[in-house]
Amino acid sequence: MGQASPASLLICEHCDTVYRRRALECGEVACCPRCRAVLERHHRLGVNSLLALLLTAMIVFVQANIWPIVTLGLNGQYSATTLWGMIITMWQQQAQVVAVLAACTLFFFPMAKMLMMGWLLWFARRGRRAPGFVPLMVGLHRIGPWTMSEVFVLGALVAIVKAHVYFEVIADPGIYAYAVLTLLITIFSGVDLRLLWDETAESPT
Ligand SMILES: [Zn+2]
Repeated sequence: MGQASPASLLICEHCDTVYRRRALECGEVACCPRCRAVLERHHRLGVNSLLALLLTAMIVFVQANIWPIVTLGLNGQYSATTLWGMIITMWQQQAQVVAVLAACTLFFFPMAKMLMMGWLLWFARRGRRAPGFVPLMVGLHRIGPWTMSEVFVLGALVAIVKAHVYFEVIADPGIYAYAVLTLLITIFSGVDLRLLWDETAESPT
């Protein structure tokens, strides 16, 4: 019996069945025959394209946070607000819990996620594991469900339509930046970051 190296084996996350890995064709998905869970997908995007995409997301993220999101007009008075303007207003209106939740899911978690991914990808480009590779990979996995820009964009659109009854509502560039960011996040959520385990070698210590 030949010895299989750990890299040539694949373990189903759901039922723990072990499989021998084979190279996937473009667009192919390997499924577990026992429980139908996805084992592995073909990676269309390499480390370099992911890094480029991440850089784009970071630029859009900065714009989404700096630019005003909506302008509300009432009796000829206009007031534009940014995401941070909204969060500060919520804080002052005794809605501290909502303010903290919004700040975390729309700002701190996405930012932490992008910085962590950028750090990992930057080293992966040269086939190396970044310092703190394992805790960061675990952290990224945990933080995943807590970035909710897509929920925010939908909520903001609904609010804009509703507020139209009472105010003059003008959508500002910030909301479009958020829409683009949502698109980029959707692309990223389809990327299986586990590929970094395979593409990087453990550095000799
Ligand atoms: Zn399985």
